[in-house]
Amino acid sequence: MDAIEPYILRIPLRAPVKTPMGMVDSTIALLIRVTSQTGEEGWGEVWCNFPRFGAFHRAVLVKRVLEPLLKSRTFTGPRAAWDAMQATANVLRLQSGETGPFAAAIAGIDIALWDIVGKRARQPIWKLLGGNSGSVNTYASLGRSHGAGPLIEKAMQRGFRGFKLRVWGDVADHIGAYVAARKQIGDDMALMADANQSWPVDRAAEWSKRFTDVRLAFLEEAIPVDAPLDAWRALARAAPTRIAGGENMLTAEMFEAAIGSGAYGVIQPDMCKWGGFSGALPMAERIIAAGLRFCPHIFSGAPGLLASAHLLAASNSPDGALEYGIEYNPARDDFVQHEIRDGRLDLGDTPGLGVEIDMQQLLRYRVATPEW
Ligand SMILES: [Mg+2]
Repeated sequence: MDAIEPYILRIPLRAPVKTPMGMVDSTIALLIRVTSQTGEEGWGEVWCNFPRFGAFHRAVLVKRVLEPLLKSRTFTGPRAAWDAMQATANVLRLQSGETGPFAAAIAGIDIALWDIVGKRARQPIWKLLGGNSGSVNTYASLGRSHGAGPLIEKAMQRGFRGFKLRVWGDVADHIGAYVAARKQIGDDMALMADANQSWPVDRAAEWSKRFTDVRLAFLEEAIPVDAPLDAWRALARAAPTRIAGGENMLTAEMFEAAIGSGAYGVIQPDMCKWGGFSGALPMAERIIAAGLRFCPHIFSGAPGLLASAHLLAASNSPDGALEYGIEYNPARDDFVQHEIRDGRLDLGDTPGLGVEIDMQQLLRYRVATPEW
């Protein structure tokens, strides 16, 4: 490996959005470009959505901790590099209490390394990693439930056939929007709810029942990821739908506990937050083998979205669906050419990730990486 270049992108939003995780005042992304000694380029992406300034720290981890390691040795492939990054960063991760930033930085580099391997092999990553088809099911992921009607309409026109709305805080404020959404999309399309960990643990079971008539395909992160598994199991017993979660699981042990818990029907790793291809594909296979639905979480720029599509395709999941944020995000939408047809995204046979980065456009969004 020759060099890693982090690109921090920040594009202010016209109107800030309040979320349970804090104010969102900009589109933010951290893209990673790895250049090999033979001149090939690979793109990856590091999850950095919260806090909004977290991208800076992660970029420094990439540049100051992980790049020197990768330049100092040669590896048989991305999996060996992933193992080495995990092992080398382990004590520092524990000492700093920064499991998340390290996991995300390693994941982003891993994705870029696989992009290079795919380009070298002249194969799309989904095929290289054992997928039978490059076509994956998707669903449109929207922000708050209120006023979702026009966005759902636009998403249906774009080809989406499943829709997820946020239900932050008291269900009573949202249920009307879900009833309207179900009416709008009819009986055959999927409707999902995501609470982003915001419901009180002692009320979640009762609140989940309010959704019986709108027939959710799943209810996501109703309660915090670190709520006791007994609380998750109680929710699963009471809820009229499958319970989903996984985007905030940051170690293999957390996923294993969730898989074995009996609470989750849908598990949603975010490969830009933990695992890259090297960690998340074996985990996807564990999820599928346990009879659970594997639905990659992603809210990212173009490399993260396409990597997640390759991951889902490579997993040969029978019923998985890829999250696809549909509100305008320049870091994604300015670089993704793929269309959605009848709810599916077809990756085709472009080698590697198949992401086309227009450097001029990218540099318009870039903010400087701290020199430290
Ligand atoms: Mg979510």
